[in-house]
Amino acid sequence: MIDINRDKCMYCGACVGTCPVNCMFLYETRVEVDEDKCIKCGFCERVCPVGAITLIKEAKA
Ligand code: SF4
Ligand code: SF4
Repeated sequence: MIDINRDKCMYCGACVGTCPVNCMFLYETRVEVDEDKCIKCGFCERVCPVGAITLIKEAKA
């Protein structure tokens, strides 16, 4: 899953712009991720200028 730290996020939209599957959406006061579409590429995590995004890899049972 994608964890977005809302205290750090400044809503620049960089993550939304870099997502290859367009599953991120920028709203006025939040960024949302469609987890069903996300391919866990980690681009958003790398592009965020304030380190607000953490890609959490779920352990497979
Ligand atoms: S990990 Fe990749 S696919 Fe998932 S939200 Fe971030 S940029 Fe989009
Ligand atoms: S790149 Fe980081 S600071 Fe910019 S909108 Fe995305 S989560 Fe927020």
